[in-house]
Amino acid sequence: MATPADPRPPPGSPELIPADGRFGSGPSKVRPEAVAALAATAPTYLGTSHRRDGVRSVVRRIRRGVAELLALPDGYEVLLGNGGTSTLWDALTFSFVERRSQHLAFGEFSSKFARVVAAAPHLDEPDVVESPPGTHPEPRPDPTVDVYALTHNETSTGVSTEIRRPNAAGLVAVDATSAAGGLRVDPTRFDVYYFAPQKCFGADGGLWVACCSPAAIERIERIAGSGRWVPPSLDLAVALESSRLDQTYNTPALATLFLLADQVEWMLGQGGLEWAASRCDRSAEILYGWAEASPVATPFVAKPSERSPVTATVDFDETVDAAALATTLRANGIVDTEPYRKLGRNQLRIALFPAIEPDDVATLTRAIDYLVEAQRSS
Ligand SMILES: *Cc1c(COP(=O)(O)O)cnc(C)c1O
Repeated sequence: MATPADPRPPPGSPELIPADGRFGSGPSKVRPEAVAALAATAPTYLGTSHRRDGVRSVVRRIRRGVAELLALPDGYEVLLGNGGTSTLWDALTFSFVERRSQHLAFGEFSSKFARVVAAAPHLDEPDVVESPPGTHPEPRPDPTVDVYALTHNETSTGVSTEIRRPNAAGLVAVDATSAAGGLRVDPTRFDVYYFAPQKCFGADGGLWVACCSPAAIERIERIAGSGRWVPPSLDLAVALESSRLDQTYNTPALATLFLLADQVEWMLGQGGLEWAASRCDRSAEILYGWAEASPVATPFVAKPSERSPVTATVDFDETVDAAALATTLRANGIVDTEPYRKLGRNQLRIALFPAIEPDDVATLTRAIDYLVEAQRSS
């Protein structure tokens, strides 16, 4: 491991360089095997019509595979469309919130959806329940709320939550962008569980996927029939109709679809969600265990049960310059360990998604120890 000016590991130190240096929280590591499979299929797949069976069969694999991975009950449907999670927030604002939503806001992503809804002129002011970064609030059952907007894993702070229904009346919409495929979940506890492929699914961004309960589908159809103006690209009834035909409303990124299908089937082949979640748990034990034992590092999230097993945040004491650590790691090919920019802490954030090898996480902790030692002795 060398300084940024000389970004080569010293001879005899391969145990400090992970086999794969991608630890970003999104876009995240894409498995080389998936890229190779895409390259192999490219001549007959890339550059072909998304209205024909070549591409539609990939969409079908995604819809079936996601339903199997999450063990969706009968009647649940997998919808997809272009634009990623941020675009789905706009779509939910038009096509899913009836009058008033409640949002648990405890970081950048969960707060952003609350702001989108608050700005919508056709909805009542949302109820926003906040808590400081590094914690999460609890929902407040409220008969005037028709959507509870929960976040399974707040990627900006590394806090994970357990999904529960606050009451029987409101529908539950869960931002699982960084959680789906890495955290266990009981599908009877949500009505919409949505994500994008660039986190646990190790693909590219620009697509959203939403697992919808029968009650969610009924809500989407009711709003579509209510006379509310909804732009077609944000209309979930249009997305529902396209998805049922294994298509998207407009042209999708074919490479992204392929990488997503490949990752879902890779997870299923290894043993499904339980396997993927256990692998993330193993990486989390390595990382948090190391941080707890370290004299200079501490897990940022105080409660062990709330520490994310997919995006870990670790604070350093004032004897360590975490930004310099991230820069030197980057110079050595270990990338994207910087913390979420707006959190403004002396911190590293390390993704532990299913595609990331637990052994590489262990190697990373040794590299950080090595660099901390070098910083303190210089
Ligand atoms: C990454 C992320 C988003 C944003 O996803 P985009 O596809 O870039 O819009 C939203 N919510 C959470 C929890 C995320 O991790």
